[in-house]
Amino acid sequence: MKARWYESYTDGTLKCLLCPHSCVLKPGQSGRCRVRSNLGGTLFAGTWGLLSALHMDPVEKKPLYHFYPGKEILSAGSVGCNLRCRFCQNCEISQAGLNESPGLQPATAEKLVSLASSAENNIGIAFTYNEPAIWFEFVAEVASASRLAGLKNVMVTNGYINQEPLKELIGLIDAFSVDLKGFTDDFYRNITHAGLAPVLDTLRTIAASGRHLEVVNLVIPGLNDDEATFRKMVAWIRENLGEKTVLHLSAYYPRYLSKEPPTPPQTLIRLSEIAREDLAYVYAGNLAGYRNDTRCHHCNTLLISRSGYHVEKRNVSSEGVCLGCGTRVFQNF
Ligand code: SF4
Ligand code: SF4
Repeated sequence: MKARWYESYTDGTLKCLLCPHSCVLKPGQSGRCRVRSNLGGTLFAGTWGLLSALHMDPVEKKPLYHFYPGKEILSAGSVGCNLRCRFCQNCEISQAGLNESPGLQPATAEKLVSLASSAENNIGIAFTYNEPAIWFEFVAEVASASRLAGLKNVMVTNGYINQEPLKELIGLIDAFSVDLKGFTDDFYRNITHAGLAPVLDTLRTIAASGRHLEVVNLVIPGLNDDEATFRKMVAWIRENLGEKTVLHLSAYYPRYLSKEPPTPPQTLIRLSEIAREDLAYVYAGNLAGYRNDTRCHHCNTLLISRSGYHVEKRNVSSEGVCLGCGTRVFQNF
């Protein structure tokens, strides 16, 4: 499939404009994501219509805790990523090029929408597992068809995308789960091989659009758990995205190229408490036995009790209103 978002030059070279890497590709070359390639002076999206994984997941697994809690979502992914996070938990698919992924299954928008529409308790389609931004053309096609069928669309992303394509996706995607992996450009450069500023721009743009947004921060000992920097990140979220922004802190386990030990539970809990000084909804994920209940930010009534992915709605109306004080806590319930 011919890709979008590029400019071409008379010598057959082209520049991809989809993400801030701005790869300049000679004929035969692929970008840093390894799935968008210059074939004879035209940019091709190599993973269009190709799936590495397709599962029905709890929406909490994306993670999204304030978007149709307790529902499921058909989750689809392909291969490739424009980042190279040393700690990538999905490295088998994210760091694979198209030629190293022989098991990809073909899919169409019609098939995915049909599957999603016929599944019970399912709200729609999530683009996840690897980085969906580099799957732009297929994501846009599926999301358009999904929306026409009355389904919801979710994108789980690293946020490393240029503003124009992002704005087009915002027109099609109902909820975003965005990684904010650290809060220094050094961390982004050294650990993910990308930059911080474009991710902050993405977060601001999504928040300003009014689309549902939840932010995920994977806490890695010695790399991004410095308290002073963490406080700056939380203050930035409050100031730029709003104090009711949902923040998920997630425990890390060694994967791919990372050698750091797993996040100690006490670190995650301490950072959660710090974040709660500024933000109304902070959750600590990937921690066995830790409760991630939702309480009303206004009156502290228990609204949702969670144990793993098991969700029980308590004192909340079918419209997402707290029965303790009448505050609308969930916009999408
Ligand atoms: S999407 Fe891929 S090819 Fe395009 S600029 Fe980003 S890494 Fe390069
Ligand atoms: S952005 Fe996500 S999928 Fe891509 S390398 Fe980083 S952790 Fe893996």
